[in-house]
Amino acid sequence: VSLGPTLSVVTVADSREALEKELATLRGGSGTVALVPTMGALHEGHLTLIDRAKELADSVAVSVFVNRLQFGPNEDFRTYPRALERDVRLATERGARLVFAPDETVMYPRATPDIQVEPGRLGDRLCGAFRPGHFRGVLTVVAKLFGLLRPDVAIFGRKDYQQALLIRRMVEDLDLGVRIEVAPTVREHDGLALSSRNAYLSAPERADALGLWRALDAADRLFRGGEVRSQSLLAAFQERIAAHAHLAPQYVEIVHPDTLTPLESAVPGAVMAAAVFCGSTRLIDNVVFGAAADPRIAVGSRA
Ligand code: AMP
Repeated sequence: VSLGPTLSVVTVADSREALEKELATLRGGSGTVALVPTMGALHEGHLTLIDRAKELADSVAVSVFVNRLQFGPNEDFRTYPRALERDVRLATERGARLVFAPDETVMYPRATPDIQVEPGRLGDRLCGAFRPGHFRGVLTVVAKLFGLLRPDVAIFGRKDYQQALLIRRMVEDLDLGVRIEVAPTVREHDGLALSSRNAYLSAPERADALGLWRALDAADRLFRGGEVRSQSLLAAFQERIAAHAHLAPQYVEIVHPDTLTPLESAVPGAVMAAAVFCGSTRLIDNVVFGAAADPRIAVGSRA
């Protein structure tokens, strides 16, 4: 698909060749490429990663691929929102020069690859404890995307803190030679972290979903006020979650930012990470204690 002279868009099908061609055009000799990997259903969080990518390289590629390997058998692979045409429009309007949206057989010609990337111990913590194999699937697809697009830099969101940490570690440990950038979590005007899965929420669930951010923010405020005991900070979180009928916590932990091991006492830069079910929708979020406030989107604006 071509959207005019400056916007080349690769969509679907047998497009490894098309991808190569587009990449050669983008690089035009020495131009650098930034990759923003996504599962689509793009929102302002993804688009902000594109903004950051534009600052870091000559051109921006966005991948859109709902990666079966990272979904558990009872998870939402089938129902995950898909909106490729809209994604292509939003990404190109925001300045992406290439949208790589392979279909399943292009990405996984052998259905399930024989060789996958094992995250090791870091992948067993936090979300990994509840989603066996999830991070193996994530790292495998990201490694493949790095191999296919050979970007100079790739941008990930802090909302998926453990994912970004694991990708950084993979690149270091396997010397993949891609610079990794992590961008702040973009939030709704009321604080809820943007997520493609927010689309699953009913109106009453959406109202309660805000409780996740409120509970993390409350703990961060207590920390800023001088409370460092993790037990107290976690209790404050739990108390606020319990006030919302639709919220059921899966885990909440205060961990070291590099090792993800639980901390008895919080320090600046420690990460409080949580997953809660809001109805049947699983939401994750985190706060880095003492860090600058995350960006919010304006009231009423919608990607
Ligand atoms: P996903 O499409 O959910 O797999 O996310 C693709 C990328 O966008 C990942 O690096 C996410 O961390 C990032 N992302 C998702 N939501 C947000 C958000 N609210 N703010 C910033 N980045 C985000």
